[in-house]
Amino acid sequence: MDEELFDESVCARGGWGDDFTTRPSNPPIYQTTAFDLHGVEQLEAVVSGSERGYIYTRDGNPNHSAFAQDVAKLEHTDAGAVCASGMAAVSAILLSHLKSGDHVVAARVLYGRTSQQLEELAKRFGIEVTFEDSRSPDAMRSAMRDNTKLCLVESISNPLMEVVDLPALVDAMGDVPVVVDNTFATPCLFRPMEHGAKLVFHSASKYLNGHGDVMLGVVAGERSAVTRVRRVASLYGLNANPFECWLASRGLRTLPLRIERASSNALRVAEFLEGHAAISRVIYPGLSSHQNFELARRLLPNGCGGMLSFELHSEEAGVRTLLRELAESIPFSPTLADVRTTISWPAGTSHKFMDPADRRAWGISDGLVRLSVGIDAVQDVISELDRAIKQL
Ligand SMILES: *Cc1c(COP(=O)(O)O)cnc(C)c1O
Repeated sequence: MDEELFDESVCARGGWGDDFTTRPSNPPIYQTTAFDLHGVEQLEAVVSGSERGYIYTRDGNPNHSAFAQDVAKLEHTDAGAVCASGMAAVSAILLSHLKSGDHVVAARVLYGRTSQQLEELAKRFGIEVTFEDSRSPDAMRSAMRDNTKLCLVESISNPLMEVVDLPALVDAMGDVPVVVDNTFATPCLFRPMEHGAKLVFHSASKYLNGHGDVMLGVVAGERSAVTRVRRVASLYGLNANPFECWLASRGLRTLPLRIERASSNALRVAEFLEGHAAISRVIYPGLSSHQNFELARRLLPNGCGGMLSFELHSEEAGVRTLLRELAESIPFSPTLADVRTTISWPAGTSHKFMDPADRRAWGISDGLVRLSVGIDAVQDVISELDRAIKQL
């Protein structure tokens, strides 16, 4: 049949190999904008859900489903939805659950861009926001108003590694749904849905993918809430693309191994740093000096993850020297959760947009550096840090 076509048609319709009966050992990438339909009957059947299928990738794609379903399983919940990034997941959750005049109670220490988005919604779209101390469920409850529609916290906060007492918080917030950013903990260490959260979300750009080569967000929770999120993600164009999901599915295969190793490495690095004279404070929930050590033991029995922060006596000048000294071994990279160890400076990157006085008052000093401990050999990481800190 093909030989009867003009070259233009062969080209325009090409790219299909012969059908085969053996299944690919790895999932294919459905790098397609849309899905061909046999006719209007099939379109109607897929739209109504009576037939499994896909129509247009903005609304759904097999690579989206594969990743989102696996994350939902790991979070021990019903359903999942992917978004273009962690911030797209925040947008989709807020836009699907709030309208003008609603009020949000949010943790006062959040990923900088999450706070910034809440402030922007408050300024421009008439949503009220109160930032409170999420370490205190009572303070969070006191911030509640008649129009409070959502509570937003991080399971382990960035960059101070505060651990939220989620069971107590959910209890304190009563009927107000609690949404948890579980990026730092991952479901390997903590599953918010088991403690009463309404929705959980991740920057899958971080641990879930874990290889520093993807921008992706994912939301998981009860099916009805996730359906609302997915509808908004599709309508506002916050959707992910298939290749990112495919890569993230591949990264997810080693998540438990990576988290276990990153956690044990981070604890050893934290213990090493705590003994160092140039360092004034080490912040890691696995250290008995951490404010939430007991809570972490109870809620995070399998480890506290790979993220830790520390403060230099020599403050910002020391940070500048340290990052320069480490450039060839532990790079200054304003992301986290890569397989390799990286370092960042919250006051100059993730929390740059905060008012400097607020930032300092909340414990994010100019001398605070954040380490994302990877799965490289911990002996190397410790000796590289030691060498660099001695230059301060
Ligand atoms: C990175 C990050 C985000 C934002 O995710 P992106 O994928 O970068 O958009 C949100 N929350 C936390 C805790 C993060 O680390």
